[in-house]
Amino acid sequence: MSTAAAKVNLLGLSKPKLEAFFESIGEKKFRATQVMKWIHQAGVDSFDDMTNVSKALRAKLEAIAEIREPEVVLEDISSDGTRKWVIRMEGGSSVETVLIPDGERKTLCVSSQVGCSLNCSFCSTGKQGFNRNLTAAEIIGQLRVAIKSFGPFEPKDPRRVTNVVLMGMGEPLMNFEPVVDAMSLMMEDNAYGLSKRRVTLSTAGLVPAIDQLGEVSDVSLALSLHAPNDELRNELVPLNKRYPISELMAATRRYLDRCNDKRVATVEYTLIDGVNDRPEHAHELVALLRDLPCKLNLIPFNPFPNSGYRRAKKAAIEQFRSITTRGGVITTVRSTRGDDIDAACGQLVGQVDDRTRRSQKYIPVKQDLSAAGPG
Ligand code: SAH
Repeated sequence: MSTAAAKVNLLGLSKPKLEAFFESIGEKKFRATQVMKWIHQAGVDSFDDMTNVSKALRAKLEAIAEIREPEVVLEDISSDGTRKWVIRMEGGSSVETVLIPDGERKTLCVSSQVGCSLNCSFCSTGKQGFNRNLTAAEIIGQLRVAIKSFGPFEPKDPRRVTNVVLMGMGEPLMNFEPVVDAMSLMMEDNAYGLSKRRVTLSTAGLVPAIDQLGEVSDVSLALSLHAPNDELRNELVPLNKRYPISELMAATRRYLDRCNDKRVATVEYTLIDGVNDRPEHAHELVALLRDLPCKLNLIPFNPFPNSGYRRAKKAAIEQFRSITTRGGVITTVRSTRGDDIDAACGQLVGQVDDRTRRSQKYIPVKQDLSAAGPG
């Protein structure tokens, strides 16, 4: 018994891949630009709507290709304007995508994996284990879904999405090619046209992949540091045992040098009460960051059930900020957004069918999150 070959989903193909696709079916390369504009600038889902493509080619595409977006199963809007989508992927798992409005800036926080294999101790995604990598279509699909939610498709409308950060579920550098392809669509003039300064990849520090990224992309880079020394970082970010801080700093410097445009990295540091929020940590961090072109983003820890951690106290956050600022590090404190809909950093969980069985060692209990931390 023969089964029909699966259709190629054109949604996730970068420009070179879409060109290769057209050449492989005996068509001219320029078709890629045409079709790309229909998919990403007009937002169409059907080849029939592509009026500058001949009827014959439309029929040919219909037979072998498709434009398939992941399905939204829930859309939630927070009292502060933050929006969250739960998006179902093929196979039944779901991931979460969050849009955070902050004045003129509308930042979309995109997921790259179903779950995560890194198991950082303070992150709820890590506690769920890992299921699979997202495809490029599923990653770029999150941006398309967010833009669509505002009505007729207008990707360049500045009231919709102005910035994208790969800071949702998953470690983007562990899903290298699909992430790079999706980011290239975000920056592609014939698609979403975002500048490289407005697309940020956040990593827990997969050192060889940072170098690899520098060879193919120049997006902005954020490092999830969270500790100023290896002893503490080994505890919070287990990946540090493989790639210690000194190697991470060196790879980041190489990446920035390559960008060759005075780019700075963002260093993310989640402040956890009594764990990494003391003045001596701040002083050690200043010394560590002295030679790295960067800005520091302090993130008050967002609690989740059974995390075992509490958010740093207001006074500790202020003191930390004042030490790093006086030490010459440009420092901002990320305001907590969307926590009434569990959309804050580190709270994204989706629905992960855990293949690592890690989640079985961790049994979350439903509890009132507003009572779990100092707020
Ligand atoms: N794996 C990537 C991207 C996902 S995490 C990375 O590690 O960078 C993105 C950011 O979410 C991390 O920098 C971390 O600071 C933040 N985060 C994770 N759990 C958090 C929590 N419980 N509270 C606050 N921030 C958290």
